[in-house]
Amino acid sequence: MKEAGVWMKRLWLGWSHVLFPPSCAICGTWVPEGVDVCEGCVAEMERVRLSELDDNVLVRLFMQAAPVVRAASLLRYSPETRVAGLLAEIKYRHRPELARRLGRWMARELEGRGMFRGIDALVPLPLTPERQKERGYNQSECLARGVSDVVGLPVRTDVARRLFFHTSQTMLSGEERRANVEGAFAPTVSYGELCARGEGLRHPLLIDDVVTTGASLMALARAVEAPSLSFLTLAMAGAYHARYPSDEEVRRETGDEVTCVDVDGWQ
Ligand SMILES: [Zn+2]
Repeated sequence: MKEAGVWMKRLWLGWSHVLFPPSCAICGTWVPEGVDVCEGCVAEMERVRLSELDDNVLVRLFMQAAPVVRAASLLRYSPETRVAGLLAEIKYRHRPELARRLGRWMARELEGRGMFRGIDALVPLPLTPERQKERGYNQSECLARGVSDVVGLPVRTDVARRLFFHTSQTMLSGEERRANVEGAFAPTVSYGELCARGEGLRHPLLIDDVVTTGASLMALARAVEAPSLSFLTLAMAGAYHARYPSDEEVRRETGDEVTCVDVDGWQ
């Protein structure tokens, strides 16, 4: 009987490849087994090339607020690019399965570089229960589940929760973003209590879809209170993404005086 079950499973696995051949998570083209994103899509998206995972622009960003060990991001975000489209898909177009496959891709890309060494759990950035209900899933949790599929670490959605969601962060400056998310997350149980139960996380990996100023992840890091933390996001935006014009630009564009730009003087 057991043998029959094994044969049924083999038969199904054989046929499922014919019926549902492995395809690229983004464009749907055929890919070899175990590959989530095809070479064409990888080539079309700008990558974040971090030479070190424990000393880079993101590590220095998070250092302001957390005992950071490693930080990484896979794709470079800029508006109106394929990466921006991909983020919109997993956030607004009900594509939880795409987010999970992108999580697997992230894990495969970074596993060999020691990204997950010493990590004891994956903690996705929580949404408020209302937002999660409205969206039907949390895209950061789907990314974390994809990472977990590859590296086998547990996904912990029970250590912190989101208390509120303010206005969209998109048009805010770094300082405003920090104020916007201050106190937005709270531990579900205090770190002291978790440690007393022997459940305290020593080195969680916090996961989100995109990092801009790092304000949300830093606020979550404060709520998680672990002695060491690492950070992973699918994409990373540059400062220009939420840039406010400088006073000089405002004066030039709204002042009474008409400014002539000296083209020759521009570099
Ligand atoms: Zn593709």
